[in-house]
Amino acid sequence: MTTTTPRLLEPGLFVDATPDAALRGARCARCATVTFPAQQSCPRCGAAEMNPEVLPTAGVLWSYTVQSFAPKKPFLTTEPFTPFGVGYIDLGDVIVESRLTVNDPDALRIGMPMRLCRIVNHLDEDGTEVVTFAFAPSKEEAA
Ligand SMILES: [Zn+2]
Repeated sequence: MTTTTPRLLEPGLFVDATPDAALRGARCARCATVTFPAQQSCPRCGAAEMNPEVLPTAGVLWSYTVQSFAPKKPFLTTEPFTPFGVGYIDLGDVIVESRLTVNDPDALRIGMPMRLCRIVNHLDEDGTEVVTFAFAPSKEEAA
């Protein structure tokens, strides 16, 4: 049995390549607006001075839905398709759209604490796990 190192789907979304890396956003030097993903200029005031911003790894669920049909390429997921949760996580200065580890609407509620984690998005042709970020209900919430 061989083990391969998982690969990040979009490395630019993270501060580094470590398994627990936080998400990398950007903060406007003029008006302090935070964006995710990082942008070259501020969507609010137009300033081109955006500084890297390490986003919090915990937040609260702002809104959510459950995707119950397969997305189109290149957003293919595991086969056969399994419905998955999608939500907006309020991290304080920015709201991030994210996959959720939970696909049962009864297990989700707006305002519940959530934490950053990794999920396998798909497998490469050579079997390498390609992972992306997701948010999961915080441990204390799931207990
Ligand atoms: Zn700005």
